[in-house]
Amino acid sequence: MESHGKVIDRLRTAFRSRVTVPLEFRLSQLRSLLSLMEENEAQILEALHKDLAKPKFEAVLSEIEMVVNDICYAIDNLKYWVQPDYVGKNLATKLDDCFVHREPLGVVLIIGAWNYPLQLVLLPLVGAIAAGNCAVLKPSEISQATEALLAELIPKYLSQECFSVVCGGAEATARLLENRFDHIFYTGSQAVARSVLQAAAVHLTPVTLELGGKCPCLLYGQLDIPAAAKRLAWAKYFNAGQSCVAPDYVLCSRQVRDVLLPALQQALHHFYGPQPQRSVDMGRIVTERHWSRLMDLLGRSGGRVAIGGESSREERYIAPTVVVDVQESDALMQEEIFGPILPILTIESLEEGIELINRREKPLALYVFSDESKVSVSTVLEKTSSGGFCSNDGIVHMTLPGLPFGGVGASGMGSYHGRWSFETFSHRRGCMLRGWGLEKINVLRYPPYRDGSLSW
Ligand code: NAD
Repeated sequence: MESHGKVIDRLRTAFRSRVTVPLEFRLSQLRSLLSLMEENEAQILEALHKDLAKPKFEAVLSEIEMVVNDICYAIDNLKYWVQPDYVGKNLATKLDDCFVHREPLGVVLIIGAWNYPLQLVLLPLVGAIAAGNCAVLKPSEISQATEALLAELIPKYLSQECFSVVCGGAEATARLLENRFDHIFYTGSQAVARSVLQAAAVHLTPVTLELGGKCPCLLYGQLDIPAAAKRLAWAKYFNAGQSCVAPDYVLCSRQVRDVLLPALQQALHHFYGPQPQRSVDMGRIVTERHWSRLMDLLGRSGGRVAIGGESSREERYIAPTVVVDVQESDALMQEEIFGPILPILTIESLEEGIELINRREKPLALYVFSDESKVSVSTVLEKTSSGGFCSNDGIVHMTLPGLPFGGVGASGMGSYHGRWSFETFSHRRGCMLRGWGLEKINVLRYPPYRDGSLSW
């Protein structure tokens, strides 16, 4: 197997030859990536099923379509994105060309997580290619089947001089990170992000960190409860709750909770039938270790299981579960749940909910379900901070390529999707192209200075 150093040298040589810079090269690689997606859909679905028992609909929506749409969006818009942005000028620069030029960063590293193992590697790659970079991809070793498929397909479709897949777990990634990259794009846990930042600091490498956290869902005021229950349940139990933007906990009044619970029960029955374990639409927990962590969390938590709670270690299954009477000090509120367990905390007022959200780390997403006329949506938007925000639904805000996707504070730094990915992997070079005219005016700035004054 080729050493990390050799892989990076090969990519750096290609980058220095400037082969990745012409628009036509970038477009041809994006078209090849599109072919990879279109010609291998069956294998992709099979790998995602092996790794996470992803229901076909969820896999198509959240992995295949997300990537395909982003590629097509980049292909359609790249010729505009690469245009210089001309900026305003002053008297002294009136005759000059002053513009922002986007240039590629170089050889970038993309490290993915296991929960959307294809999307989390390929979406950043779209931006890296669009911006004219070479890239090393490091998919998660936990989602083994998808990791192997990416390692097989990427060299078949993309330039091997410019793009490479490196496989391996924590140790291999730590070794990979000893090398110098021009940007590191990391998706994963906050704990590992600290090691990534430390490794990046050695080479002063800029980083994008796409992390997790606990995404609150605040329900307030008059609501269409059946619709709210369906949207909430869909966002929470999609991919068996293993989404970085899944609603992590619910905040609502006692009255709302009492009508929400039967509505959630009904929504879940409608989604997964009387036995969710038998439903092909309910995913599985990625590994037995992750399953044990979730069951331990549920076991240690205060509160009462109001819906679900059933599980099977052999199948790595946990039923869609709702826990009520949860306190802020309970185990379920101490870490990101990242599974199909939804705690509900009751609050007395909107202000109490906002305060609870604000005394915790800034989340990756914040959801508010409320009747618009109650103005609570804009109140929460104004008085809180989060990576993204969506009212009266969950997760869907991340499907729109026009919106930047990323965290703030402990939920991450930087953003991507659509043009934002292109910007993340570009350096914005401020350029001033001057001619030789007006030298007489320049005389005013050359020493000997007149009286130290700037007035010409
Ligand atoms: P993880 O941090 O364990 O692993 C992510 C990647 O880091 C993998 O490729 C892994 O091989 C590598 N890695 C693991 N240990 C390492 C180490 N010590 N040194 C260097 N690299 C190492 O994360 P995970 O469990 O795969 O992902 C779950 C987390 O990711 C959750 O917190 C979730 O919210 C977050 N997440 C965020 C987003 C987002 O877009 N913001 C998306 C998906 C997941």
